[in-house]
Amino acid sequence: MDHNRSKHRLIVDGMLGSLARKLRLLGYDTLYVGGVDDRRLLELADSSGRILITGDVRLYEDASRRGVKALFVESSDDLSLAYILRGLGVKYVNIDPTTARCPHCNTPVTVIKDKELVRGRVPRKVLDSVDEFYVCLECGRIYWVGRQWGNIKKLERKLNALLEEEDDGVVHA
Ligand SMILES: [Zn+2]
Repeated sequence: MDHNRSKHRLIVDGMLGSLARKLRLLGYDTLYVGGVDDRRLLELADSSGRILITGDVRLYEDASRRGVKALFVESSDDLSLAYILRGLGVKYVNIDPTTARCPHCNTPVTVIKDKELVRGRVPRKVLDSVDEFYVCLECGRIYWVGRQWGNIKKLERKLNALLEEEDDGVVHA
């Protein structure tokens, strides 16, 4: 587990759910709050010491005025994700399922190597072909390196390419 990941704790506004899920996959402790008004969100960020990630420029400005560290993104796309990572001082990413957090509920996954513990809870074919599972003890979801993994690795390569690009000098927000 790299240092950076454990250091930064994040809070993501209700419009940016897919970013929150990816940040959790990357291992960041990411609170995702939907249906909460801006003031409350700001209070939460402030009191919990989390970096606020928002798509709302006014909220971003309020946060800055209040001294709450915040990052403004225009969308949930991979460019925005790379921008956030750069803002956190990340130079490259290595998506490691053993240090991921459950994309659904933000709980660090537990690595399970004993297949018997997940028998009956994953498809038979998966049980036969996979040796390591990542279980969320909070919400009960079980993950493994399966068909989706190709897409995740593609995301990793894309992020690393974006992170490698020299800073374009554009001032983001
Ligand atoms: Zn979970």
